[in-house]
Formats: sequence, C-alpha cells, structure tokens
Amino acid sequence: MSRRKILTLICISLFIALSSILLRQLNFTSSPPSFSFQTKSKAKMSSEAKIAIIVGSGLAGLSAASTLVAKEIHVTLLERSPKPGGNSIKASSGINGAPTKFQPGPPFSDLFFYSDTITSSGVAFSSSSGEDRRREKLVGKLVNESSGCIDWLVKKGVDLRLVAQLGGHSFPRTHRGAGKTPPGFSIVSTLVKELKTSPLFTIQTGCVVTRILKEGGKVDRVEFVCEDGEKKELRGPVIVATGGFAGDANGLLATYRPDLAGYPSTNDARPGSQPLLTEIGAQLLDMAEVQVHPTAFVDPKDLLSPVKFLAAELLRGEGGLLLSDKGRRFVNEMQTRKVVTDAVTALPLGEETPKQWDVQLVLDEGVYKNASSHMDFYIFKGLMHKCALSELGEEALRTVKQYCLASAGEEEDKLGRTYFGHWELKPDEVSGGSVVYVGRVTPAVHFTMGGVVINEKSEVLDASGEKIEGVWAAGEVAGGVHGGNRLGGSSLLECYVFGRIAGSEVVRYLDL
Ligand SMILES: Cc1cc2nc3c(=O)[nH]c(=O)nc-3n(C[C@H](O)[C@H](O)[C@H](O)COP(=O)(O)OP(=O)(O)OC[C@H]3O[C@@H](n4cnc5c(N)ncnc54)[C@H](O)[C@@H]3O)c2cc1C
Repeated sequence: MSRRKILTLICISLFIALSSILLRQLNFTSSPPSFSFQTKSKAKMSSEAKIAIIVGSGLAGLSAASTLVAKEIHVTLLERSPKPGGNSIKASSGINGAPTKFQPGPPFSDLFFYSDTITSSGVAFSSSSGEDRRREKLVGKLVNESSGCIDWLVKKGVDLRLVAQLGGHSFPRTHRGAGKTPPGFSIVSTLVKELKTSPLFTIQTGCVVTRILKEGGKVDRVEFVCEDGEKKELRGPVIVATGGFAGDANGLLATYRPDLAGYPSTNDARPGSQPLLTEIGAQLLDMAEVQVHPTAFVDPKDLLSPVKFLAAELLRGEGGLLLSDKGRRFVNEMQTRKVVTDAVTALPLGEETPKQWDVQLVLDEGVYKNASSHMDFYIFKGLMHKCALSELGEEALRTVKQYCLASAGEEEDKLGRTYFGHWELKPDEVSGGSVVYVGRVTPAVHFTMGGVVINEKSEVLDASGEKIEGVWAAGEVAGGVHGGNRLGGSSLLECYVFGRIAGSEVVRYLDL
C-alpha cells in the first residue's frame, strides 16, 4: 500500500475515532443515533399484533431481537439447532471496541481501528468505485458503534474488563471477562436470559427455515419445518442471521473453495443458509474469502478429528509464540490470521488426514497468569500441557532465548514482533528447566468473510444493488465487512452492530 493510501486511512481513522469521542461526550453512545426511535408509547400503540421474524439465534439474531423487544415489537426467533447460540456461543477471544474505558493507556489513545480493519482486509482502498464506498460505510459503522457496543453489553451485566491485542491490531481492543466464562458464552447467555423474561419474545428451536417468501415484490413470510416434519408459514418482516458456511464442507465450501477440501474446521457441520436469500434475488460477494485460522488444537487423544477446538487467538496476543517441528520461529505471531496461516502452510505438510501441520504453541508463566481461565480449560481437556523447556529440544531452547531478548527489549525481533503481551521469562533466566505450556496447533477452516450483499442499513441488495423489501441480514451470513481477512474480535462486533441496525430498521418498517 502506498504512503498516500496509508495516510488517507490514518486520516479517516482519526476522523472516525474523533467523531466517536464527540458522540461519547454528547452522551449518545449507549443509544447511538442509528438505533434511536420514536417514543415508547407510539411504538407500543402502533406495534400491536406486529411480529418480526428472526432466523438464527447467534449474536446477530439476539442483538436484533433485543432491539425489537425494547421497542415493544413481538419477535419469533426460529433456530435449527436444539439450543440457541450458534457459533457465537463458542467465541473465546473476545469482542472489539474502541475507544473504551477498559483499554490501556490514556483515554481515547486508540485511533486506528478503522485503518487496521481496512489494511487487514486487503481490499484496495479507493473511493472511486461504488463497491468500495459501500464497504467503507460498513467498516465505518462497525468501528463507530464499537465503543457503544461494549457499553451496551457491560450495562446488561457482561464482564468485559480485560483487553488483549490480537494479530493485525495495532492496539489492545479485544474485550473479555476476568472470570472463567468465555466471552461468547457470557454474551449469548446474558441476552437469552434477558429475552426470555419478555412476553414479546418467542424462540422455537429445532425449526429449520426452508424458504423466504415474497408477495407483491416484498418479503412477507417464511416457510419452516420443525421436528414434527410439518411445513408451516409465519408472516412478518424477516431478519436473516443464519451465520456462515465454514461448517458446510460438502456444500458451499466445496463450491467456492474446493482447494480447502480435507482441512479440519473449528466449526461443527452445518449447511450454509445463504441460498435462502439468493433464491429471492440476493447478490453474493467475497464467497471465496474463507478464513483459515492458524491455530486450532490437534488433540493428542483424537489426533485425526476433522473438528478441532480453537486455540484462542488471545494466547498469541498475550505473548505466545509458534515453533515449527524444527524448534524455530517462522512468522511474527502478531500478524493477521491470513499471514500466519500462509506461513504455517508453507511448512512441510504432515501425512495425516485431515490435512495438518506440526506446529507448537508455546507460552510462559506470564502468559498463563493472564489467560489462566482459558489455559486451565485447555490443560483440563488435554490440549496443552505444562513441561520443562528442555523437552522441546535444543533448537527450541535457543529460539525461546532469542524471543526473550526481543521481549525484554534487548534485541530487535528478527521477525518484526514488537508486542509481547504478558510474556515475562527474562533472557538470563531461560534454561532447560524453565516452565512452559505447550500444545500442538494446525490451521483449520474457521470463518467465512463472504455472504449476501448488505448496505449500512443491513438491507439485503439484489444484483442491481437495489434493496429487497421486507428482509434484512446481519452477522456472518452477510459479506463485505471484512474483505479478505477478518480481524479477531470483529465478528461478534459485526453481529452486534448489524443485528441492532437490522432490528432498528424493522421497527421503522413496521411503524410506516
Ligand atoms: C470456535 C470459535 C471461536 C470464535 N471466537 C471468536 C471471538 O473470540 N471473537 C469474535 O469476534 N468471533 C469469534 N468467532 C466467530 C464468531 O463467533 C461467529 O462468526 C459469529 O458469532 C457469527 O454469529 P452469527 O450470529 O452471524 O451466526 P451464529 O452464531 O453461527 O448463529 C447462526 C444461527 O443460525 C442458525 N441457522 C442457520 N441456518 C438456519 C435455518 N435455515 N433455519 C433456522 N436456523 C438456522 C444456526 O443453527 C445458528 O444457531 C469464533 C468462531 C468459532 C467457531
């Protein structure tokens, strides 16, 4: 990227961060402008017997439901699984927000979320094409609403006080709680619990939406099938929050990324639901942009499992390093997922099926202390173990010593790493007896950046760029926000931002 483009990105980042600060000063953030509506009484009066349909109970669907119920709209949420939460409930590193009171450093010192997002996406930055302009608006929304997102969740009782810096971020901004509950579970369970107290909210699990239907050019209902096998219809505007297709190995993934055949996945098997929307004319984009996460655990007790447990990105962010089977570092671990994955897959491939590489994730006591709730769980599951550094071999000992010199600021890191999280082992303390925590990791299919085209109002667009009336999409089912690479922590954020916007737009639609 040219210096001019980088300067432009930084200027836009500064502008977005400053507007966000201004909004906070004006006390707008807990109820951002795009989410504010008419008075409660009017919404109540005009919303009688009005029902909104949400498909999918991950964070995007729940955020939309919460927004609708707060405006006294009845919501029926249809979910194919027996339990709510989708992949959102599995999220383990956290959710991004900037600026927030939990971030380290002076207030409002993080001004680069927008430029980090655009830079990591790999999308050529140019306002000349309509397509780029639309992406920029989506990223603008994502970043602008991120501070309010953390406030909103914290007010609901979610603990998000710890902040880590993940790969591709130039500042710590991924929030999680201090206790043992992973962030995805805390967020989802808090929202579900709150929604279930509302008489306006109904959730039907074990029900698959099979078609979205239009009448007079407008979406006005869905067809769905529950466990009894009977086809039913439900009328109302529809918010589609059905998640991605990283678990659809033989369907959408095989169509758009046949080269990923044989890779393990961090996601359980589940068909992608984008076809529900393409059947009514929705446009798709970036479908080949699939994120392969560089670090999924290879479970020594179940070496060849095609579904892997994710080694949370925060382990690298908090200071963890990666070693090849030769005991060498081969990449700056703080690079984006794409760069780290490319570096791993350039190493020799093992002979096992699924395709997996032999890489060790190594942490010290400092990292352990700051990620102990995650680490204790991984150790309990047998995915990591505590050992003496000497067990990793002579070359690994030399590599760790070198890493300690860089983390202590005594030498520049040869791979360009400048942030070492809470790594605390000092160069003069490193010996074969030093305690480390180790687990084998390999790349796994994780997240799909592509999906249906939406605009900044979460409206679903057709092939000519026109909105399809009566339907909105939010979360991983939509494409375009992350381009070719999603930053860790930005998916949950995307669900909150575009789920809330979709909910707000449906309130507006029903009040017309
Ligand atoms: C292991 C793991 C760890 C992760 N960690 C993080 C993290 O730390 N931070 C972060 O930002 N992101 C993380 N992600 C990504 C993030 O969790 C998801 O991408 C995101 O939460 C997607 O949310 P969603 O609401 O769009 O979809 P989901 O949460 O996947 O929910 C979609 C729901 O829709 C349902 N559904 C689908 N089709 C239909 C249909 N036809 N009818 C009815 N129901 C349907 C599904 O069953 C599902 O419950 C992680 C992902 C995984 C797998």
